[in-house]
Amino acid sequence: MKPFAYHQPDGIPDAAKLLISIEDSKLVAGGMTLIPTLKQRLASPAALVDLSKLGSLKGLADGGTTITIGAMTPHAVVAASKLVQTKIPGLAALASMIGDPAVRSRGTIGGSVANNDPAADYPAGVLGLGATIITSKREIAADKFFLGLFETALEPGEIITAIRFPMPLKAGYAKFKAPASRYALVGVFVAKFADGVRVAVTGAGPGVFRVPPMESALSENFDPSAIAAIKINTDGLTSDIHAEADYRAHLVTVMAKRAVDAALS
Ligand SMILES: Cc1cc2nc3c(=O)[nH]c(=O)nc-3n(C[C@H](O)[C@H](O)[C@H](O)COP(=O)(O)OP(=O)(O)OC[C@H]3O[C@@H](n4cnc5c(N)ncnc54)[C@H](O)[C@@H]3O)c2cc1C
Repeated sequence: MKPFAYHQPDGIPDAAKLLISIEDSKLVAGGMTLIPTLKQRLASPAALVDLSKLGSLKGLADGGTTITIGAMTPHAVVAASKLVQTKIPGLAALASMIGDPAVRSRGTIGGSVANNDPAADYPAGVLGLGATIITSKREIAADKFFLGLFETALEPGEIITAIRFPMPLKAGYAKFKAPASRYALVGVFVAKFADGVRVAVTGAGPGVFRVPPMESALSENFDPSAIAAIKINTDGLTSDIHAEADYRAHLVTVMAKRAVDAALS
């Protein structure tokens, strides 16, 4: 790890100011992704701006038809939240499947969404539920936020402060874990709303994506049988040491059916 300056601001404006004024500075939230990256010298920022003192970024709020989760809320808190378990059980289930207990107690929803790892779980929940990413500057719809491999719509100096999830009628998540890392080889989030169904896939390609043919079929008939015959095109899917693209394509249909089952149960 190379030396770096360390800042622990008291407010979001101060954090944003530090990020803009110090060239090559980086936010640190739970550090679960960033610190190993520094240790391996895959990144060597001049300064870290630690968000851990910003209490306003922690916790959950019931908005009646929405749940807003602060960016610094750890995965374990989302998984254990009675509010999320009751209103969006698929999201609580997703949070409970991330990594291991240590990762879930340190890693944060804001860090996960900002990092946009192609195999991370939260991007599927955020896109599948059509959530809104709230930042220090603006609000961004999930459909416009995830741009590709580790790439998001965040601008330099922009900080995620919270994510607002609409409450669905039903929602479920299913993931086929890579056994060593527990990241998603393929994970599928399915959410049913009064005006239709959304299906979002993580792990299968360079970034999270929706599956319109499954969304149409499930909007007609919200049952696993409705999508059993839908095959995913392998174009653009990932082939690596863990799985070939055609295996991942097969898993998308299997996990989507399981996600619908989970939503119905
Ligand atoms: C062993 C292990 C297993 C894991 N397994 C899984 C898994 O199964 N599924 C899964 O989804 N993830 C998994 N993870 C990743 C974990 O969920 C991390 O917590 C998450 O990716 C990053 O969150 P963090 O709070 O630790 O962010 P950090 O590591 O602190 O930051 C990550 C990146 O996000 C930026 N950032 C952080 N917060 C903000 C913010 N509020 N606004 C803007 N940018 C911000 C940072 O600058 C940095 O670039 C695993 C990690 C480990 C170490």
